[in-house]
Amino acid sequence: MKGAIIQAVLLTATLLGRLAQPPEISLSAPHRSQSPKEQAFYHVVHDWPQLPEGYMLGEVSGVAVDSHNQVFVFHRASRKYSAEPNLPPISEPTILCFDGQSGQQIAAFGENMFVVPHGLRVDRDDNLWLTDVGLHQVFKMSHDGKLLMTLGTARTPGQDGTHFDKPTDVAIGGDGTIFVSDGYGNSRVARFSPDGKFLGQWGSNKGDKPGEFNLPHSIAVDAEGRVYVADRENRRIQIFDHDGGVLSIWKSDELGRPFAITIASDGFAYVVNGGEQKPVPGYGGRVLRLDLSGKVLSRWSRYGNYDGQIYGAHDIAVGRDGAVYIGDILGRRVQKFVAE
Ligand code: ZN
Repeated sequence: MKGAIIQAVLLTATLLGRLAQPPEISLSAPHRSQSPKEQAFYHVVHDWPQLPEGYMLGEVSGVAVDSHNQVFVFHRASRKYSAEPNLPPISEPTILCFDGQSGQQIAAFGENMFVVPHGLRVDRDDNLWLTDVGLHQVFKMSHDGKLLMTLGTARTPGQDGTHFDKPTDVAIGGDGTIFVSDGYGNSRVARFSPDGKFLGQWGSNKGDKPGEFNLPHSIAVDAEGRVYVADRENRRIQIFDHDGGVLSIWKSDELGRPFAITIASDGFAYVVNGGEQKPVPGYGGRVLRLDLSGKVLSRWSRYGNYDGQIYGAHDIAVGRDGAVYIGDILGRRVQKFVAE
């Protein structure tokens, strides 16, 4: 009994000692001493973007940031995902552009062109690269929406230099090489010259061996030319050399089902885990910032539909200012996160 009282007194003293410290200082001290290149803590930015009164985004499939901190969003407007073969193009604008800082809408275009919007990237010259899993095509557009190049054959799935089967995403190498993750139907990465000439492919058989894919859903290239593929249903990130040789594989509970990966201008990888969602979300909605050896430096967010939570993670983008944007396909929104 006496021992228990002493313990209680010690515990109280410990608690009082903790409470005596101002909580702001004890909470924020750990990261103040670290360089911004190491661990960072992220929080959601409320009221971003500024949508017109009464307007609601559709299923957000893609998000990307250009060199002027303009954020492009690719969404399905009033269309719900459908695999029906002969859907008409969506008549409303599917590409919206917002100022990264203020969240004000700058532009809206891409009407009467897309059937089932999917992937979106912005290249170093601020061109847009988009994929449509209904049309089985890849498009290059200028910054203001002029069509510059089309790869694939409209509404005709296949697996060669002129056909895709629900291509999911595009990445552009430093030399302009075009890499397409293809996709829901196929299980390959297809490679094209900067002017769209087919150069070859890898991973053409669906499987789970190194170099094989089960839904390559997102693709990115780093400054050294390494190619990162979110191999979604194999629950891993595969990293390849320029020609498709496997360099390494990242896999963990936190990475879970990686829906999207990007390599930001800070040289780090950013991944969002779409999770299992039903019935157990697990690490769904988790966002990870990793160094290029696969070590997790920062982690934030979780499954849910409150501000700062993610319901259906589908794409990720990072501005040059370090802001991270998550496209939420089920939550029908884009959220902006910044480091403290
Ligand atoms: Zn998808």
